[in-house]
Parts: sequence; C-alpha cells; structure tokens
Amino acid sequence: MAKKATTSQETETLEQPITENQHLLDVDIAIEKRLVALYTLQRVDSEIDKIRIIRGELPQSIQDLEDEIAGLQTRIENFTNDINLKESSIKARNAEIEEHNAMIKNYEKQQGNVRNNREYEAINKEIEFQGLEIQLCERKNREDNAGIKELNQRIEAANLLLSNRQNELNIKKDELDDIIKETEKDEERLLSKSKEQEQYIDERYLSGYKRIRKAARNGLAVVTIDRDACGGCFSKIPPQRQTEIKMHKKVIVCEHCGRILVDDDIANKAAELLK
Ligand SMILES: [Zn+2]
Repeated sequence: MAKKATTSQETETLEQPITENQHLLDVDIAIEKRLVALYTLQRVDSEIDKIRIIRGELPQSIQDLEDEIAGLQTRIENFTNDINLKESSIKARNAEIEEHNAMIKNYEKQQGNVRNNREYEAINKEIEFQGLEIQLCERKNREDNAGIKELNQRIEAANLLLSNRQNELNIKKDELDDIIKETEKDEERLLSKSKEQEQYIDERYLSGYKRIRKAARNGLAVVTIDRDACGGCFSKIPPQRQTEIKMHKKVIVCEHCGRILVDDDIANKAAELLK
C-alpha cells in the first residue's frame, strides 16, 4: 500500500475532518489493531469517568446533610435560649409578685390605723392597684409558660429530625467509604489497563485522542456508528464513508465533530479484549 501521507498531514487528521479522497494514514494491518486499541482505551477511560462521577456526587450529598444537621443544631440552640429567657422572666415576675403581696400586707396593716373613711379608701385603692399588678405578672407568666411548652415541642421535633439526618449521614459516609475502597481497586485496575492500551497506540493518535476527549463534554473521542450517524454528535454518515470505516484501512474521523469512528466489528473486538 502506498504511503502518501506525511507526518504533518497525519497529525491534522485528528484536528480536521478528512475528506474522502485524502489518504492520510498508513494503510496496513496495524490499523485495525490500532482502532481496536483506541476503542478499548475509550471504553476503559469511560469506565474511569463513570467511577469519578459516582464518587463526585456522594461527597456533595454528605455535605448537604452536614449543612442541614448544623442548621438543626442552631435551631435547637436558639429555641433553648428562648426558653432560658422566658424562664428567667418568669422568675423575675415571681419575685415581683412576692413584693406586691408584701406591700398588700403592709397596706392592710395600715388600714387598721386609719383615722377616717377617706384614708381607708385611699389605701384600698393602693391594694387594688397591687392586685392588678399581680394579675398582670400572672398573665405574662401564663403566656411564657405556654411559649415554653410550644418551644419544647419544637425542640422535640427538631431533635427527631436531627437524629434521622444523623443516621442518614452515617449511612452515606459508610457508603462513601465502601465506594472509595471498591472504586480505588477498580480505578487502579482500569488505569493500568488504560496505560496498557496506550502502548499499542502511536503517540500522534494518542495525543489526538486525549485532545478530543478533553474537549468533548461526554469524554468520548472514539465512537461507533449508531443508526447511520456518528455516535458522538449524531451527524449522518454517508454510506460511502461507512463502507470505508468498515474496511479498517484508515483511521476515519467524523467530519462534524472530529471524533474517531469505528464500526461494530472493532467494538466487538474491543469488548473481547475487555473480557
Ligand atoms: Zn461526530
């Protein structure tokens, strides 16, 4: 087979779409192996991506739970402070009531020594006034006691929610530990597989592969043909081009997105390798 391509043109193939007439790549039996290696590498790297996504989401949900727990603890703390304030108000009012009662006793004593009805009535007014003060204190105490009761109920509810969330958090943390342990092993195995596949791929294809993968949101640089379309960008692939892809004589990239295209035969061979 003719080797028409120069190195610079070959490098371009991964950056720019190849047209039908360009014979840019070495045509030899190694091409098929290279395609299989590229697709195998893609499969392995996609697995690694998946592990990293799973591991990426759990810490976030743990963080959310920890935030919620901190919020509940603050709420309980605030309720407790409110209760303490109300309790000291009640205590102060009880002391006040005692004072008013002492004054009433005093006034009653004075009433025994009055010289006339007018003085008696004046003292009576004072006693009445002290009585009203006591009633006011007692009403406020009742209100505060009701408030304390309600706050205690809210604390109870918050505590229940808090213990539920703490249980959930513990479960999630264990889950994360397990996943880290598990995936670390998987990831190591996959990474060494990825490195192994890289050996079979020329540097120029490898750097092209890495460049496309980095640019693509789904991390796909090598894709199969799916319903006559590129498996990466879903653009239609003309029949003539599909035939060329099936021949395994060139590394062919999608004209629209630049991803390397392989047929099912290559995909099956890669799947065999991964068994
Ligand atoms: Zn495409």
